[in-house]
Amino acid sequence: MGDVINTAALVQSGSTSAADVVSACLGRIKRRDKSVNALVSYDDDRVLADAARIDKKRASGKSLGKLAGVPVVVKDNICTEFSRTTCGSKILETYVSQFNAFVVDQLINADAVIVGKGNLDEFAMGSSTEFSLHGGTLNPWDTNRVPGGSSGGPAVAVASRMVSASLGSDTGGSIRQPASFCGVVGLKPSYGRVSRYGLVAYGSSLDQIGPFTTSVDDAALMLEVIAGHDGRDSTSVNQDVPTYSSALNEPVEGKRIGVCAACFAEGLSDDVRQSVEQAIEKLRDAGCEIVPIDLPHMKYAIASYYMIAMAEASSNLARFDGVHYGYRTEQPQDLADMYASSRGEGFGAEVKRRIMMGTYALSSGYYDAYYLKALKVRRLIKEDFDAAFKRCDVIALPVAPTTAFAIGEKIDDPLAMYLSDMYTVFANLAGLCAISLPCGFDAAGLPIGWQLMGPPFGESTLLSVAHQYQNITDFHLQTPALAAD
Ligand code: GLN
Repeated sequence: MGDVINTAALVQSGSTSAADVVSACLGRIKRRDKSVNALVSYDDDRVLADAARIDKKRASGKSLGKLAGVPVVVKDNICTEFSRTTCGSKILETYVSQFNAFVVDQLINADAVIVGKGNLDEFAMGSSTEFSLHGGTLNPWDTNRVPGGSSGGPAVAVASRMVSASLGSDTGGSIRQPASFCGVVGLKPSYGRVSRYGLVAYGSSLDQIGPFTTSVDDAALMLEVIAGHDGRDSTSVNQDVPTYSSALNEPVEGKRIGVCAACFAEGLSDDVRQSVEQAIEKLRDAGCEIVPIDLPHMKYAIASYYMIAMAEASSNLARFDGVHYGYRTEQPQDLADMYASSRGEGFGAEVKRRIMMGTYALSSGYYDAYYLKALKVRRLIKEDFDAAFKRCDVIALPVAPTTAFAIGEKIDDPLAMYLSDMYTVFANLAGLCAISLPCGFDAAGLPIGWQLMGPPFGESTLLSVAHQYQNITDFHLQTPALAAD
């Protein structure tokens, strides 16, 4: 049983109090976060008051929600009215939202306690959590390495066992890749499953919020709480939320696991290849059928993804103009200078690069050659997956071509950084659900993750296959030394 499920059961039954759970959590944060810089902000007084309210609710005879007393960290691009939402950017350094994101209200309604906000690459643009106003987050398995990104803070908060669950956002891999680098579970739900209301938009047709946990049963419970229809996000789908956590033991015998040989070719490190192949073998031993599949347009995915993500980002980030939100330059010469200098001083280099490339791709004369072409490729990729899911139930592949890389290793080479998303962007382009799971360690002792992808709204089967893989392996139970103090 996962830590989230366990903690909620103890608090619901009164065997332990939310106050005790949360105090212990604050203690762990204080001891551990100075070594890894996972949290951007937390506030002891508010957190203890929230816990006291939950204990009072129980004492008054009311039953508690599914996440009773469970401390949760949320990524700092998810709006909270009780603290800043900085997106790791100087432009939003002092920004406090007027409202909570849908997922934040869902957590609060389920009696979870939001202990703090997690660090990220500025506006969720990056794969290493090195580009943040708050400084980089470090990998708890080796603090000379990155934790992955952009949801590095929420991933590390779980990996170093400060909390047992957190929320990240995934536009092209930002939940799954850090989960893989940090040895935890990361779930990207299908597009439309979780409301994006209150998530600061990066690429609106790609963004989804999802959980980090240490086990699949906890991820299923978290998804149950945060999923659901919300009229304030026009792409939120009005479809019942299954009780994912009670479908986890659906038999895996006979399930068809699709494997695409091209995902195991060039660019993949040997350690990762071997561990992912062994994970697939485990499923074969458990009675699954391994089915070869073809994804002919895979090689165009990175180019298509970055074109679309940058185009959407350039449009979404137009709202940060020094007037409506956040930072304004000190002494503008005139109105045009106020806009230009506020944006010039407020955004970091990577964000500016993307705004410029996205604006270029959308400009008249280049729209057809770049943006429209990228959309056409996206359609072909979606069709590859539609065809593949006629032949299999889930697809197995690596999460990232390597394990966690060294801090600074890719910071001056944006293309090398972008290529670390080569296995994750498909799921966003095609609206699929996908999960990253620990499946081994490399020669340096760094965690390796593998990925299962399911068709849109195929979370039940995805989670049950993932859960049963975890039942026969123990990689997810290993913790970094940092988590012991
Ligand atoms: N690394 C990818 C990017 O920089 C994905 C980011 C994300 O999923 N938010 O765009």
